[in-house]
Amino acid sequence: MKKLTIKAKITIWFSLLFLFLLCISSFLLYLAISEILYQQEEKIIIDETSHSALHLVSGTDEEGNLRVFEPHELVTAETKITIFYKDGEISTNNMDPALIELPIQGDTLRKVEIENNVWLVYDHPAFIDQDIEVWVRVSRSLNDVSVVLENIRIFIFTFIPFFLIFTIIISYIVTKNSLSPIYQIIKITKNIKRGSISRRLELSRFTGEVGILASTFNEMLQRLEDAFTREAEFTSAASHELRTPITVIMAQAEELLSENKINSGQKNAVRIILNQSERISLLISQLLTLARDYQEEFKIKFDILEIGILINDIVEEMRLAAKSKSIKILFESGKMIKIRADQALITTLIINLVNNSIKFNKKNGNIKIGLSEEDSFVKIQIEDNGIGIEEKEIPFIFKKFYRVDKVRTGKSFGLGLSIVKWIIDAHKGHIVVDSKVGIGTKMTIRLPVNI
Ligand code: ADP
Repeated sequence: MKKLTIKAKITIWFSLLFLFLLCISSFLLYLAISEILYQQEEKIIIDETSHSALHLVSGTDEEGNLRVFEPHELVTAETKITIFYKDGEISTNNMDPALIELPIQGDTLRKVEIENNVWLVYDHPAFIDQDIEVWVRVSRSLNDVSVVLENIRIFIFTFIPFFLIFTIIISYIVTKNSLSPIYQIIKITKNIKRGSISRRLELSRFTGEVGILASTFNEMLQRLEDAFTREAEFTSAASHELRTPITVIMAQAEELLSENKINSGQKNAVRIILNQSERISLLISQLLTLARDYQEEFKIKFDILEIGILINDIVEEMRLAAKSKSIKILFESGKMIKIRADQALITTLIINLVNNSIKFNKKNGNIKIGLSEEDSFVKIQIEDNGIGIEEKEIPFIFKKFYRVDKVRTGKSFGLGLSIVKWIIDAHKGHIVVDSKVGIGTKMTIRLPVNI
């Protein structure tokens, strides 16, 4: 029951409840009808017996002799009657002999079963005068009542399954219609992502409790958006404020290094200051890029790019950095592929990935960059034969400030791949990482040609 949908649960509970009520009410109705029918039969037999006894009394002549009636003259066709005279004479209209043989029991209703047929039997005395005492016995078959009750039972057992199926269908349709606004909310909210957090549910589409749910949802989205915006504004403002002093520090440090006013020990200290300032400067620019993550999608500038030429230019610029570790970068741009994308962001994406392939490579390593077109996507592959990443680490490398080797210093903050992921998401693309420790890493990016 746990895994069932609310729709299925409500349908099942409603149908079971309906079945229970239907069974109880049918049973009570059946009991009431049978009680009424039996009471009716009892009343008829008592009335007919008294009526017959009365007519027997009126059936005496002037001398008080009994005028003999034929029993059928006294009662209706459904009723059997036997008259027991005091002298032992019996007069009957076809009453079953087994019923005639019953001992006389005055004014007592008896139910007697003879060969699957149930009879009501009633005896009543008719006093003609002191000497003449006559007993009147009337019997009525309960066959008709049994047939009526049997028909009611058949009706109930035929229609209960039919009503049950009908209830299941109706309750399913009603539940589905009642829950459909909730499914709409689920569908809409699934599409609200980080970049489109300013989207809201259209409240006019929902009424009642679902309307309250939708407006609560909108309020929550508003609070989330406010929090994201505050965070982005803070990061952006802090980064901007830090940029100027760090640029001044770096300029001053470079000036000190270029002059011969300081000794070599002091020069070393200034070099350390310069190195650390460069680190801070990189961190600031990465934080600024990430702060854009919270901005609206429309702030990204989509242009038509010749992706092969762009990668080629980046690779040429990075060859120098690669050469310092004797790493070769191989890129063969084949055919011309044009895509619609933000040039600055795609440049950052490629730089970050190639940078990682240099950073996490061995001396004399290789980097292979591939570019091809697949359906309506452009596929960019950046492959190195560096240190690789452990399989269990791969799911985390796109998180902010996540570094596999925590003790590694240098220009590494664990922000590069989270920027890469954001840029790919903003372009509605995806990235796949294949990596083996000691063998190398392959990053495969697919970006839609036309976004
Ligand atoms: P970092 O600033 O440390 O490069 P990234 O977000 O770019 O941060 O990468 C996160 C972590 O993923 C890195 O610390 C590194 O351990 C691992 N990584 C990324 N690219 C590669 C690669 N090409 N080869 C090996 N490890 C990599």
